[in-house]
Amino acid sequence: AAKAAGRDRYAFYSAALSARAVERLQIEQGLRRALAAQELRLHWQPLVSMRDGRLRAAEALLRWTHAEHGPIAPERFIPVAEESGLIDAIGDWVLQQACGQAARWLQAGCHFERVAVNVSPRQLQHEGFAQRVDAALRQARLAPEKLELELTESCLQNGDSVLRALHGLRALGVQLALDDFGTGFSSLSMLKMLPINRLKIDRSFVRDLARDPNDLAIARAIAALAGTMDLAVTAEGVESAEQRELLLAMGVQEAQGWLYSPAVSAQELATWFNKPAGI
Ligand code: C2E
Ligand code: MG
Ligand code: MG
Ligand code: MG
Repeated sequence: AAKAAGRDRYAFYSAALSARAVERLQIEQGLRRALAAQELRLHWQPLVSMRDGRLRAAEALLRWTHAEHGPIAPERFIPVAEESGLIDAIGDWVLQQACGQAARWLQAGCHFERVAVNVSPRQLQHEGFAQRVDAALRQARLAPEKLELELTESCLQNGDSVLRALHGLRALGVQLALDDFGTGFSSLSMLKMLPINRLKIDRSFVRDLARDPNDLAIARAIAALAGTMDLAVTAEGVESAEQRELLLAMGVQEAQGWLYSPAVSAQELATWFNKPAGI
């Protein structure tokens, strides 16, 4: 009986596994077409100065609208793109699009400090990544200082080679931010060695800021750490005026979140440029 139960359990697991495998395969095949079929687009989320409500920067966020299945969330397709290696082609496309858009905004007289682009661990591990970034900047004629690359702590696993890559990027003049900070396992000694400019406080600490004293303590600690290490800091996922007040009180001045705006099309972002001050 034990043997039969074991077999059943195995059959159950393998059925569940293959359902996931099939979904992954479908996403992978869909993604291969998506680039060519122009189903991928960039949306832009404003990064706002919480003191005056003005746009300081915008983060490029990838959107995929499948011809049959409709919108597919990045959380579902980015991991598949990573594992299949498609992220290299997609990542190049994102960089080119983002740099091109930023250059067009500047030519049109729009003011902003920088555009932010997410980079996945696999892209960063590529020997020639800094050259690819350089090529995208040159092609768009965008000043490197206008580009900020967002890395996650999971990017930092391959210690030495990643560190070299980051120094190569800084040598180009691009800015580096550590995204979703506090959710990974990077050590503080690692942080000390990283040539980064900014920490982004993960949304999970901002969500319950007003109710959870632990989250408040963590956010404060990150803000203080950024201050002493001379790093800029941005809060993610700011949805309420209450969160805004708490963050401002701990010295965090820049935020992104639904209190200000979700990610919108490039066209819609235009309303943010030259916007009068307000909260
Ligand atoms: P992320 O880089 O941390 O981006 C912020 C995510 O938080 C975005 O989700 C954004 O829509 C969401 N968000 C912003 N404000 C709020 C808020 O107030 N409340 C809530 N609940 N959510 C908010 P999105 O667009 O679904 O992207 C998810 C993740 O996918 C990103 O997290 C990033 O890690 C990844 N991603 C997106 N685009 C790219 C890309 O071009 N390349 C790579 N490698 N990863 C990307
Ligand atoms: Mg990001
Ligand atoms: Mg983030
Ligand atoms: Mg996040």
